[in-house]
Amino acid sequence: MPDRPTESDDLFAQPPLESGAPKTTFPESEMFPQAAYQIVHDELLIDGVSRMNLATFCTTWVDDEARRLMNESLDKNIVDKDEYPQTAELERRCVRMLADLWHAPGPAGAMGTSTTGSSEAAMLGGLAAKFRWRKGGGRGIPNFVCGPVQVCWEKFARYFDVDIRQIPLRGDRLTMHPDDVAAHCDENTIMVVPTFGQTFTGLFEDVAGVSRALDELQARTGLDIPLHVDAASGGFLAPFTAPDLVWDFRLPRVRSINASGHKTGLAPLGVGWAIWREAADLPAELVFDVDYLGGDMATFNLNFSRPGGQVVTSYYEFIRLGRVGYARVQSAAYAAARRLAAGIAELGPFELMHDGDPLHGIAAVSWTLRAGATFNLYDLSDRLRTRGWLVAAYPLPADRQDETVMRVLVRHGFSHDMADLLLADLRRAMDQIDRHPPSVSLTRQEAGGFTHSATPAVATAQVRRAAGID
Ligand SMILES: *Cc1c(COP(=O)(O)O)cnc(C)c1O
Repeated sequence: MPDRPTESDDLFAQPPLESGAPKTTFPESEMFPQAAYQIVHDELLIDGVSRMNLATFCTTWVDDEARRLMNESLDKNIVDKDEYPQTAELERRCVRMLADLWHAPGPAGAMGTSTTGSSEAAMLGGLAAKFRWRKGGGRGIPNFVCGPVQVCWEKFARYFDVDIRQIPLRGDRLTMHPDDVAAHCDENTIMVVPTFGQTFTGLFEDVAGVSRALDELQARTGLDIPLHVDAASGGFLAPFTAPDLVWDFRLPRVRSINASGHKTGLAPLGVGWAIWREAADLPAELVFDVDYLGGDMATFNLNFSRPGGQVVTSYYEFIRLGRVGYARVQSAAYAAARRLAAGIAELGPFELMHDGDPLHGIAAVSWTLRAGATFNLYDLSDRLRTRGWLVAAYPLPADRQDETVMRVLVRHGFSHDMADLLLADLRRAMDQIDRHPPSVSLTRQEAGGFTHSATPAVATAQVRRAAGID
């Protein structure tokens, strides 16, 4: 049989597809691109439909123009600012636009960079704070203070030898409370990191309140502790849907902000942003000038080469939508979230933690189960999975790990119809559980499968992975 598919030969009858995909050793022989493509394409079917993945924060819908720009930018390396000067120029414009959006005092002179995501941007913000603290005479082991955070902050702490001081949750305080902040700070605190759009609940932490608490601390003790805001999701929401909420550079204490372009920024996967209030907030030691690509250029990223398409499409989204367009897109997501929240409240056994109110959090809904329910949220998540929905269920962070949360991220492309379909499936799943109580979870536990009743640490790690938290 010829290797090359011909008009009369069916692709699936070709030898490479009959013998299966190479899996363990580096393959010896070649195959035609059509066959290789089909193998890879088909394998990825198992990944499911990303738009039904309601656990992810990341972009799962982009328009055709953005796809075209991504395609056209396939060969653009964002670090080669000399070879691709206009890609570099688009990045600079995006930095200025974000500095403007987040009310930096002089947007034209603000410092910032694109990154691979919020994680890298968070590390850069943290490193800048660490270097500023050191320059200011800081000695000893530096620390930073935060509430329940995304794993990137635990990484920052470990990778860069900084103590993380996480304020535990107390009672019904689901976010870092301003009253608890000062007690965790000392002369080695390089920054406090409020999360503007918490991973676990979707709620905004009270950045202005935390800032006031630090003002009082400074008045009392002289300690001047800066804020870095992790606005991974909130940074592209509140400016459009809650413009009066003060969380950004309007607060003088906010020295840097990170956000994920590939979340609510609406860009495809692979872009985040780190913006500093003023040039002086980014220590010169973090900026490297390199000349081996021709021309001189400053780089202050963890990686060197990076794809340029995500920045190009970010710029496209900014100019395509503007403030008015972003407000419409994000308001639509919030409206779908609120519809979903109302439906979930009506189902009965659930207690909402975040109902999609744009003044209180990101476009998401999170809820817990009232006492006395005959099932748990992990069972419910499993049942929804059989209909193709991925809805995260996971424990709250310390000290509320007894509480299980379910969370839906409502993103661009999640319509009111989809909210209704999900509600219908929630109802169906609850009926099924009623009729066939989930003894299955026992079997899965015995099999060592993914279950809530594994040891807490294991369960947490598994759940965090499944929830897209890690
Ligand atoms: C998603 C997220 C991060 C990590 O961002 P990536 O862009 O995935 O690297 C950090 N903090 C918060 C609050 C997040 O939601």
